[in-house]
Amino acid sequence: MPLTRLSLLTTPLLRVGPSSVHGLGAFATAAAPKGTLLGFYDGKRYSADVIDSKTWNDQLTYLFVLSDGTTIDAGRGGNATRHLNHACAPNCEATEAYDAAGRLVLEFRALRKLKVDEELFIDYRLQADASSVAADYLCTCGAATCRGTMLDPDHPAATR
Ligand SMILES: [Zn+2]
Repeated sequence: MPLTRLSLLTTPLLRVGPSSVHGLGAFATAAAPKGTLLGFYDGKRYSADVIDSKTWNDQLTYLFVLSDGTTIDAGRGGNATRHLNHACAPNCEATEAYDAAGRLVLEFRALRKLKVDEELFIDYRLQADASSVAADYLCTCGAATCRGTMLDPDHPAATR
């Protein structure tokens, strides 16, 4: 089924509410089987060259960088998917796909069967850059497999 603008914007399987770990979170509005498409990360898109010349006010930005260099700012026109918090043992995943127009999109799917009202998480695996400080990305998700960080273990930040 081709993706429409409507399907990019609506997230009927998600609701936003107070999170168990941090600020607001996203919760399942219904039980859903493994693999269920929950929504697409949407917002204003910036190309890589525009991003480099832009300054962001750190904390409350909702940026997601796609593999083609496009950055999606869900702080502008985004939907409930921007409220999925990080966990080291997540129940959802964000993966890239192409829509009917050939545009790269980021879709959220259930990694396992979801229960109604369950809080939803993805593993952020944030890519640190040279100025990143590990202490800014601490994780306290409580999972037995918690890495203690939201950063990608393959791209660790400088420790200081
Ligand atoms: Zn963790």
